[in-house]
Amino acid sequence: MVVGELADRSDVLVIGGGPGGYAAALRCAQGGSSVTLVERDRIGGTCLNVGCIPSKVLIHAADVAHLAAVSSKWGVNLTADVDVSALNAHSADVVSQLTNGVSELLETAGVSVIHGEARFSRPRRVAITSGELVSHHEFDNCIIATGSRPVGLPGFELTGTAVVDSTGALALEAVPSSMVVIGAGYIGVELGTAWAKLGSSVTLVEAAPRILPELDKRLAAVVRRRLKELGVSVLTNARAQETIDGFVTVEVDGSEHSIAGEVVVVAVGRRPNTDTLGLEAAGVSLDEQGRIPVAPDRRATSAILAIGDVTAGPALAHKATAEAEVAAKTILGQRSAFDPAAIPAVVFSDPEVATIGMTLDDATAAGIEANDFRFPFAAGSRSRTLDDTLGFVQLVADGSGTLIGAHAAGAGVSELASGLALAIEMAATVEDIAATIHPHPTMSEAIAESAHGLLGHPLHVHR
Ligand code: FAD
Ligand code: FAD
Repeated sequence: MVVGELADRSDVLVIGGGPGGYAAALRCAQGGSSVTLVERDRIGGTCLNVGCIPSKVLIHAADVAHLAAVSSKWGVNLTADVDVSALNAHSADVVSQLTNGVSELLETAGVSVIHGEARFSRPRRVAITSGELVSHHEFDNCIIATGSRPVGLPGFELTGTAVVDSTGALALEAVPSSMVVIGAGYIGVELGTAWAKLGSSVTLVEAAPRILPELDKRLAAVVRRRLKELGVSVLTNARAQETIDGFVTVEVDGSEHSIAGEVVVVAVGRRPNTDTLGLEAAGVSLDEQGRIPVAPDRRATSAILAIGDVTAGPALAHKATAEAEVAAKTILGQRSAFDPAAIPAVVFSDPEVATIGMTLDDATAAGIEANDFRFPFAAGSRSRTLDDTLGFVQLVADGSGTLIGAHAAGAGVSELASGLALAIEMAATVEDIAATIHPHPTMSEAIAESAHGLLGHPLHVHR
C-alpha cells in the first residue's frame, strides 16, 4: 500500500541510529530542533548490536576462560567450561540494556523514531519504506549516518553457520574445533584471538605482508608475538581463494594450501552504506570509496550533512559520535568544525593496542622534525605484578618538545588512550608529562617513563 504523497516534516531528519546518528539526534533535540530519526534495523547501529559491544563481551569472556591456562603459575588452579549459549544470552542482555537506554534517551529528548528505510526522492525529502508502507518526510537539514557493512569475498558465500562475517562470528552456537579467519585487520584479529582463547584452533589468513597493516609495525609485532604464544597460526602474504566443505584454499607465495576451518570468518573490510540511499536525488556525489565528501562543518550540501562510517577517516564509533557533535552544532547555528589533533584508535587484541596521533614515520613523511622514546613494559612494575610484560609505550614529540603522538601495546592500554589523546589535544610538552605524577604501580607509569626518556634522562631503563 502507498500512503498519499502528503509529507511529514521536521527541522532535522537523521538517517541511521548508530553512535553517529543517535548522538546527533539527541544533540539537535537538546538544542530545540524538532528531530526525526529513521532506523531500518535496530537502534544502536553496528556498534551496539553487532560491533563494539558484543565483540567486547566475547573478548572479556575469552580472557576469563584463558585464565585457566595461565593462572596455575600464580597458585590458582582453574578449569574453564565454556557454555556458548549462556555467553550469547549474556551478550544479548548487555546489548539490550544499552540499546534500551539509547531508545529511552531519544524518547525523553522528544526525538520521533521511525522504523523504516529512508531513500532520498528530492534534495529535502525522503521516502521511508516500512514493510509495505511508504511515507514521506521533509526536512530543513538531514544528517546521513547510515554506517557501513562487511565487504564480501568471492568464493566465500555466507552460509550463516559455516561461513560467516563478523556478525555471524559473534553469534556462533558452539566453539568450533577449527576456525579460519580471513583478514587480519583489527576485526579479524580481535575475533580470532577470542575464539582461540575459547578453545578453537584458529588460523589467520592475511593478504598483506603482516597482520594489522593499519598499525605501526612495532605495535603489530607485539600482537603477533602473543598470537604465537596462544598457538594461533598466522599466514601472511596469503590470499584466500575459496572454501569447500570445511577447507579453505589459500595461496601463499604462489603455492596453494588447504586449511581446515569448521567455521570460516570473512573479515576483509567494510564498505559505507551509501549505495541505496538515492543520493543522486539529493545532489550528493560520492568519492571513489563510496563515501560522502563533507566540509569540516560536516555539510555535503546546504541541506545534507554526513557523519560516521559513511565519511572519510577511521571507521570507529567515537569518531562518529565526535562528528555528530559537530554536525549538530552546525545545524544549531554555532560555528563548528571537525578538526581533532588526534583520533585515538584501539585494538582489543592481546595485548591491547592504542595509537593516537603521529607515529615517527608519519612525522618524517610530513617533514616534521621528531623524536621518540619507547619504554618497555618489561621494565615496569605493574606489568610484572600482572605477569604480562609484553609491549611498550612510545611517545613522539616534535622539535619543540610538544607531544604529537603516543602509541602503546600492552595489558589494558585501551584505558591509557584518553589521557594520551587529552595530552595531544592540549599540546602538552614532554616536560609537562614528565612532571605529572603518575600513580604507582600502574601501567600508566610507562607514559612518564617515556617522557623522561625523551628528555634524555630515563629512570628505570638505561639511557
Ligand atoms: P552504524 O553504527 O553502522 O549505524 C548505522 C545505522 O544506519 C544502522 O543501524 C543501519 O541499520 C542504519 N541504516 C543504514 N541505512 C539506512 C537507511 N537507508 N534507512 C534507515 N536506516 C539505515 N568501533 C569502535 O570505536 N570500537 C570498537 O571496539 C569497535 N569494534 C567493532 C567490532 C566489530 C565486529 C565491528 C563490525 C565494528 C566495530 N567498530 C568499533 C566500528 C563501529 O561499530 C562503527 O565505526 C560505528 O558503529 C559507526 O557508527 P555509525 O553511526 O557511522 O554507523
Ligand atoms: P581491514 O582493516 O580492512 O582488514 C581487512 C584485511 O583483510 C586487510 O588487511 C586485507 O589485506 C585482508 N584481505 C583482504 N582480502 C583478503 C584475502 N582474499 N585473503 C586474505 N586477506 C585478505 N579506517 C579507515 O577507513 N581509515 C583508516 O585510516 C583507519 N585506521 C585505523 C587504525 C586503527 C588502529 C584501527 C583500529 C582502525 C582503523 N580504521 C581505519 C577502521 C578500520 O580499519 C575499518 O573499520 C575496517 O573496515 C575494519 O574492518 P576489518 O578489520 O574487517 O578490515
